[in-house]
Amino acid sequence: MATPASSVCPNCQTAKMPHRICGSCGWYGPAKEGRVVIPQPTENEAPAEKA
Ligand SMILES: [Zn+2]
Repeated sequence: MATPASSVCPNCQTAKMPHRICGSCGWYGPAKEGRVVIPQPTENEAPAEKA
């Protein structure tokens, strides 16, 4: 029996298993410690303090 995914990744909106790591982006839902947010590398976050 296939268990239908009853959870949607809030990060990429992909249907995933609840309490499971998103197989699409690696997002992990509400953990026992709250929420585990995976910081994404922001290359556009460069300080624009170029005089
Ligand atoms: Zn995801």
